[in-house]
Amino acid sequence: MDAKKIEKAVRLLLEGIGEDPDRPGLKATPQRVARMCEEIFGGLKAPEEPLLKAIEGESHTEMVLLKDIPFYSMCEHHLLPFTGRAHIAYIPNGQIAGLSELAKALEHLARRPQVQERLTAQLADMLMETLNPQGAMVIIDAEHLCMIMRGIKKPGSRTITSAVRGIFRSKQSTREEMLMLTNYRNKGGF
Ligand code: ZN
Repeated sequence: MDAKKIEKAVRLLLEGIGEDPDRPGLKATPQRVARMCEEIFGGLKAPEEPLLKAIEGESHTEMVLLKDIPFYSMCEHHLLPFTGRAHIAYIPNGQIAGLSELAKALEHLARRPQVQERLTAQLADMLMETLNPQGAMVIIDAEHLCMIMRGIKKPGSRTITSAVRGIFRSKQSTREEMLMLTNYRNKGGF
């Protein structure tokens, strides 16, 4: 990441909105934002190790579900945060992944300019590619600040996206099990 470029851009942005970037409160803001970008866009860097590692020889063939994982991401259209919870499920086919790795993979993919739809699909595809499971399903339920503090201003509105792969797509009872376990079954919307 090029911190100097970010600092220059933030200074210009402050000037652009009619602020004085040299007043005391704003003086260090460009550097602060540059440091913050290292963190919140850190997922643009290729990870040092694969985000998910398959653990072989696992006979478990029932659903594995990690639910209610909090995450923060940045909408790439407005550079405003969207935040919420992700639910990640798969049915193994001889290989599993560490549960904390699932959460880490989500965090890595969220730390870049994103759209919720793509984040959801990237997670499901990563599961399918790394673990070759019978199927995978990801639900993300989030609030977008660009819907709340600007534009149509609809606080409380939630965006729910799902990516459904393999047996979750072909077998309704498997999909329903996931929806039930994540409490979406009777809330409508699906
Ligand atoms: Zn947006």
